[in-house]
Parts: sequence; structure tokens; C-alpha cells
Amino acid sequence: MNIIENLQYAVVGKFSYGAPEINEIRELIPKQCGIIGGCQIGYLRNRHILMRFDCIEDYIKVLSKDSYYIIAKDGYAYQMRPFIYDANFKVSEETSQATTWISFPDLLLTFFVKEVLFSLASVVGKPLQLDLAKINKTRPSCARVKVQLDLLTEKPEFVQMQLENNDNQENSVVKIKIQYDSLPAYCKQCKLQGHTEDDCRVLHPELVQQHNEDRPKESQHIDNKQLYKGAIKSKWKPTNRTFTKRTGEIMNVKVVEVQRSLAISFLLMF
Ligand SMILES: [Zn+2]
Repeated sequence: MNIIENLQYAVVGKFSYGAPEINEIRELIPKQCGIIGGCQIGYLRNRHILMRFDCIEDYIKVLSKDSYYIIAKDGYAYQMRPFIYDANFKVSEETSQATTWISFPDLLLTFFVKEVLFSLASVVGKPLQLDLAKINKTRPSCARVKVQLDLLTEKPEFVQMQLENNDNQENSVVKIKIQYDSLPAYCKQCKLQGHTEDDCRVLHPELVQQHNEDRPKESQHIDNKQLYKGAIKSKWKPTNRTFTKRTGEIMNVKVVEVQRSLAISFLLMF
């Protein structure tokens, strides 16, 4: 197998908030991401790993979620976001390549054939997989195609299909509507997935202030931890409060604090 073949089903895993050791990652990912075939995992660069899958099913499966929380032996959950590997990989940028499902709601059942569906889907991107939801065991009710596409290119709303009449050999053209499942947002300014230019805090600094004002003060501390350290890890991380490994006790600390401040305000009132 040469290098190019080996990169055919390659996915980059981005651990923004810390990661387990690479040997542990190699052991955990196949189990926790439900990988069925062979998988080679290596360290790529700064907070990024490269996962190369032997089969397309694993490639599609891993890319179908926005993020994973890999539970390591230390008990912490490390967030990993999967991205399609592209040859222009840069640590500071996220690829604009993504996968999504598309369907053709107006398409007649007669054309629910892989060749036709893949051919129609190729106007959007690279067709990867077909999903035929069945009414009964023989008749499909709708057809979806998983495509790999570039989030920066125009998304066509229709595809034209040329049909030949068997009786008189005359050609006619039908317009087929393309329906997209959720598409990840992409910001051209930050070169990151997950937000658009409209929601970009670099382009619109006023959004940062608005966000801070909208945030409830009590939960602010925990929010920060969840953002930067990963969900489970944050809960147990000792901070300026006396947190213990039991959530109940954390709650008690908070409740006591609230009750104390209420008591103080009662004292002032009477
Ligand atoms: Zn942005």
C-alpha cells in the first residue's frame, strides 16, 4: 500500500484541550468510536493526530459526529473533533472539507439506483455512501447520499437530469431538487468550522461583550472550565473552591453559599 492509498480514508483528530498519550489514544479510539476495520493512528502535529482507516465505513462513521469525548485511564474525558485530512493541513486552520447527507425529495422511485443517485450527488461533491430507507423489504421510500463537499463552494439547489423516452428516443430535462441535511458552518476569517462570519467574534468584537453580559454569573466559572478542559475533566479539577470528587458536595457548597447570602440580606432587611 503506498502513501497516497493510505491517506484515502484519513481523518485528523484535533484535541484542543489536552490529550492522553498516543499509545493510549491508539487503544481507546477504536473501542470508543466503534471502529470495525483496521486503523492506524499516529501523532500528526501540535494537538492533532492522524487516523488512517482501512475501510470507508469507518471513515464515514468517525466523520459523522462533530466531537467525541475520549475517556482516558485517568478518568478524564478529552474532547476530540474529527476533520477530513487534506494535503494542505495546517495546525492553525480547519479544513473546509466536510461530509453531509443529501436527498432528492422529488425523485421518482424508478431512479433509486446507486448509479443514478451517485451521478446526481456528484454535482454537490464526492459521493461516499448510499442510504435507502425502506417502506417494506423491497421498496425504498427515500434515498440519501453521503457526500464529501467543500463548505466554501456554492451549494446547488437543483440538478438537471436528462431522460430519454424509450418509445420515440426524444430527450427531456427534469429539474431535481437537492435537500441538504445539516451543513457545518465555516468562517473564512478564522478558517475554522463551527461558526459563520456573522457569528465571528474576530469580525464582530461586540459579540464578546454581549456574550459575557448574557452569561449568568454563578455558572461562569464552570463554563470556562468546560470550554477549556473538556466536560468531565472540569468537574473534578480543584479550583479556588473546595471541590471534591462527589458532585453532591459541590452542590452543597453552592447551596450553603446562597443560603448564607440570603441570610445576610434578611438581616439587613429586618
Ligand atoms: Zn470567525
